[in-house]
Amino acid sequence: MEFETRAIHEGQQPDPQTGAVIVPIYLTSTYQQDAIGQHKGYEYSRTGNPTRTALEEALASIENGKFGLAFASGLAATTTVLSLLKSGDHIVAGDDLYGGTYRLLERVVKNWGVNTTYVDIDHIADFETAIQPNTKLIWIETPTNPLLKIIDIAALTNIARKHNIILVVDNTFASPYFQRPLDLGADIVVHSTTKYLGGHSDIIGGAVVTSNEQLYTELKFYQNAIGAIPSPFDSWLVLRGIKTLAIRMREHEKNALFLAKFLEKHPKVERIYYPGLPSHEQHQLAQEQMSGFGGMISLELKGGFAEVERFASRLKLFLLAESLGGVESLLCYPAKMTHGSLPEAERLKRGIKDNLVRLSVGIENSLDLQTDLENALSSS
Ligand SMILES: *Cc1c(COP(=O)(O)O)cnc(C)c1O
Repeated sequence: MEFETRAIHEGQQPDPQTGAVIVPIYLTSTYQQDAIGQHKGYEYSRTGNPTRTALEEALASIENGKFGLAFASGLAATTTVLSLLKSGDHIVAGDDLYGGTYRLLERVVKNWGVNTTYVDIDHIADFETAIQPNTKLIWIETPTNPLLKIIDIAALTNIARKHNIILVVDNTFASPYFQRPLDLGADIVVHSTTKYLGGHSDIIGGAVVTSNEQLYTELKFYQNAIGAIPSPFDSWLVLRGIKTLAIRMREHEKNALFLAKFLEKHPKVERIYYPGLPSHEQHQLAQEQMSGFGGMISLELKGGFAEVERFASRLKLFLLAESLGGVESLLCYPAKMTHGSLPEAERLKRGIKDNLVRLSVGIENSLDLQTDLENALSSS
């Protein structure tokens, strides 16, 4: 079955008791057991819940993986994956990371005795150079946030396999509709389902998918032992979001490409970052490893911060807000919002300038969005 069909049906058979077409929200913490030691597959809802099971099966299917696990947030998913490591282990990570992942690595995981080396993602060979005898895991995001750089997943797979290291890809920005890292050899995929998978800016959630049974068994143990699981209602909302992921992603991409072309030519725009534009440095690689370029655009405005402030305050449809991946368009100012916790020198070193803004392009009418941008950029 193809992606669209699996997104709607996998793990979501009609309820055998009532025929309900939609998976019910099982608001129960516990389950009656037939006899001591005999149950119907569920004992306690931290360990398992049928609504969550449906979501986990759908997640595995759309990532072309065997096993899915759902979490209370993207960072809960990340924390659970990092629990695979023990004191003295080492991580190699790309240097363009979600700010919260960086904070987790530096201010929490480091206290467990697990250190991280950050590698300039423009130089893939540096990942191999950074590997130490105690390196257990490589962590990357692609496309990256906010500069939308592309990392060659297949090339990293070769490095990881050669050194027997687990490769984790945070696939939040592309969504499984446009990129499936497991097919390219990654061991684990992580998502913030808060973004495209949920798709409606109404929940916080996370996911982990793998095809490696041993890793799954360990991660399932940690999911239960740590307990950062999503509620049945949140699981249901993500499941509902996944049903329309394919059509939403096609619209996000169509609008983003249209607006990227418009912005690239606009005299107030100094530089634009969108992997779907031939001018993007890694357009070729993006074309090879992704089946579409997604809905995120970043741009630098001429005139510095004053121009950014003016632009943000004049936009009517693009709302100034954190997060991304919802049906509505959002604008974010990385220097003060998503990447505000980075020291200024470090932020500038990573190319996140004071005139950089990030757009999460929604699925409103593309001409309305263009008009909104045009008005906000105009001098009058
Ligand atoms: C939002 C985000 C996260 C964190 O997810 P939460 O659901 O906010 O915990 C991780 N990675 C990426 C790329 C994100 O955009």
